[in-house]
Amino acid sequence: MTWDKTLEELTLPNLLYQPQEKVRALQDRLLREQIEVCYRAHPFYEKLMKREGLEPRHIQTTDDLVRLPPTTKQDFLADPEAFRMRGDIFPPEVTTLWKVVYTTGTTTGRPAPIYVCAFDYYAYLYGAARRAELIDIRDTDVIANLFPLTPFPMGAFSRATDEAAAVGASIAFAHTGRPDSPFPVHHTVDEAVRLVERHRATLIWGVAGFVRRVLVRAEEMGADFSRLRMAMITGEASSKAMRADMRRRMARLGAKEPKVANRYGSTEQGSSMVECVEGAGFHSLAPDQVFHEVFDPATSKRLGDGDTGMLAFTHLIRRGTTFLRYAMGDMVTFTTATCPHCGRTSPRVTSQPVRSGDILKIKGTLVNIQALKEQLEHMPTIDEYQIVVRPQDPADPFSMDELLVRLAARPEHQAALAEAVVAETARTAHVRPRIAFVEKNEIFDPTIASKPRRVIDERPRRD
Ligand SMILES: [Zn+2]
Repeated sequence: MTWDKTLEELTLPNLLYQPQEKVRALQDRLLREQIEVCYRAHPFYEKLMKREGLEPRHIQTTDDLVRLPPTTKQDFLADPEAFRMRGDIFPPEVTTLWKVVYTTGTTTGRPAPIYVCAFDYYAYLYGAARRAELIDIRDTDVIANLFPLTPFPMGAFSRATDEAAAVGASIAFAHTGRPDSPFPVHHTVDEAVRLVERHRATLIWGVAGFVRRVLVRAEEMGADFSRLRMAMITGEASSKAMRADMRRRMARLGAKEPKVANRYGSTEQGSSMVECVEGAGFHSLAPDQVFHEVFDPATSKRLGDGDTGMLAFTHLIRRGTTFLRYAMGDMVTFTTATCPHCGRTSPRVTSQPVRSGDILKIKGTLVNIQALKEQLEHMPTIDEYQIVVRPQDPADPFSMDELLVRLAARPEHQAALAEAVVAETARTAHVRPRIAFVEKNEIFDPTIASKPRRVIDERPRRD
């Protein structure tokens, strides 16, 4: 594939409404070429295919992809350079290095590079302009970029600019985050609030927990967000209750009919999935660039429509850092059925993505942490919260567990809140928590972390 390919060869008009068979035929055709180039120029997949005794002729359709073992984040982190396509088989205008973004969330703390070449960058711009119609980003929007300034360019931070450019919106940078360089270039949460106000931002965009913090602080500061119409949140799961809480806060700040757009994506994938209406599920918005599937993590077998499994994606036209059957680490329910809300035919994730590990055993009881979080997010007087599971007596290896709920709230709300949280937690989780009130920043300090840690398990591992 080269620069001289036509758009007609790369996509279909009105792609998201085309019959599934037509989209699948396009995906199969693009995949054949992607597999061919991976076999010749992608160090990791070249080696993997040879090890599995596979040649490009064995993977001719998206159904044949199941012959390839899924790729894990550990595979990528072990050798990120092996996922970068060798440029020598493409014309230079395709593989000119445009930029490098980095994934976060690694346990080693060392971010891994994603090489974005010119071809991939243009493809991203094209996809971003197309999905703006669904997310409702407008060329008149003023976006406040609330992603933190980090020592390595985070995918979301860097791509926010691309998306604004693709649509023709304006964008201002809050540059919050951890001030860890010799240069005093970071701004505080209060300065971020003032930036939103000063630019009369219509759209604020960032990691869910941080965007919420800006709204909490804006209320305390009495800021005027009357031009704000939407918050776009990403980077961590958010419950319906949390989004409703954010809308209420936006309305109190002067926003008329405020919306919260929940985006689901990953730096590796490079294309967000977004809901058409709340609860409809996250649409794949670039089926001409990314193929999605769910598989059974125990057997790696692909699962069917409506099944819950591990979400994986395969790049169809990538030329820089490229992934095939890459497991996103989230368990989701997935459907290819036409959306009853908007009529789009592109596949959807119909459940909130759940990280494996969201069910914890506390005092011998299995506790659905997701439900516990959601219940806390229903309580409007909570400014921040954190769930801590730890041994009652850290010195005793056989100690009973303790469930601690740390809360930040205004003093006048604390007594009633403590009582409500104890009662509700005992009811839903069948465990009686201890409550501790702390300052907001003790739970989530935006100058240290880019997102709040809602759940901490401090128990020693017993395996
Ligand atoms: Zn829809």
